[in-house]
Amino acid sequence: MGIPALQNVTGIFNVASSLPDYVTRFLTRSNTRSILQIVWDFRCGYEPYLESPVFPIILSVVFYFVTCLPFTLLDIVCPKQAWYRKYKIQVDKEVTKDQIFDALSLTFWNHILLVLPRAVAQWIWCPVMPLPEEAPSLFEFCWHQMAGLFLFDLQYFCWHVAHHKIRFLYKHIHAVHHHFSSPFAWVTQYLHPLELAAFGFLITANTWVFNCHPLTAWSYMLVSIIVSVEAHIGFDFPFLLHNLDPTGNFGGPTKHDMHHLKPHTNYQPFFNHWDRLFGTYCPPVKGCAVRNKTLQDNKRHTRQSKKVN
Ligand SMILES: [Zn+2]
Ligand SMILES: [Zn+2]
Repeated sequence: MGIPALQNVTGIFNVASSLPDYVTRFLTRSNTRSILQIVWDFRCGYEPYLESPVFPIILSVVFYFVTCLPFTLLDIVCPKQAWYRKYKIQVDKEVTKDQIFDALSLTFWNHILLVLPRAVAQWIWCPVMPLPEEAPSLFEFCWHQMAGLFLFDLQYFCWHVAHHKIRFLYKHIHAVHHHFSSPFAWVTQYLHPLELAAFGFLITANTWVFNCHPLTAWSYMLVSIIVSVEAHIGFDFPFLLHNLDPTGNFGGPTKHDMHHLKPHTNYQPFFNHWDRLFGTYCPPVKGCAVRNKTLQDNKRHTRQSKKVN
């Protein structure tokens, strides 16, 4: 399938008129399968490991540690650097070695007492899943990925609101995550074991809802980890997605930092639309504690209302 040659005005018109059709066919045609097929073919020879029911757990645990580690190094080695102070969101709050040790300890025990038994149980009782020969199409890969992220975002929003509104749930489960008001990478899984188990289950179950190809399922798990860790890194780097997104619907670390500061705001983990719809959206603090104009206006308005009353 080719695009008409761009030689004259008629050619330009032909290109413009056939472009939507070309894009649709590009996304759904079987030859685009070959783009992901190249990646998928790397599995050849490793099937006994990749087909194991333990593989997704090992992949996500290793990936979580690898993702958090660079940001921990930044927090330990670079706090005196000018660029660190420029991009740190809560620049007045230092990330101490005791805090990192505390977060790592809970992460360690959650993995020993929860993740490891789950992995062993899956190893013993779950059947080996033979891998398909063909990769998913690019369209299927992208749509399942986005659908999984939006679905988990909604599930987490409901879970999160319930755990802030129902005192028993907050006190006995979610308060663990709010131990730190200034997040750093390891706070991502600084969670009550029940909360960690629930998130693990939801992310896995969402791949069943859409009957995802294994490549899509693994990628979705890794993307979920990236977005979750990113929300907790405590930096507002200019290359992060929320700074590049023209729609303003990506949450990012500035928005989630605000949730740790003002816990009854910004419940959504990845996006903003439900928070905006239900009036729980709070404009974030930017890097170096620069306050957004809307947030300043909100605060001024609140102070004035208190004076009047
Ligand atoms: Zn958090
Ligand atoms: Zn919360």
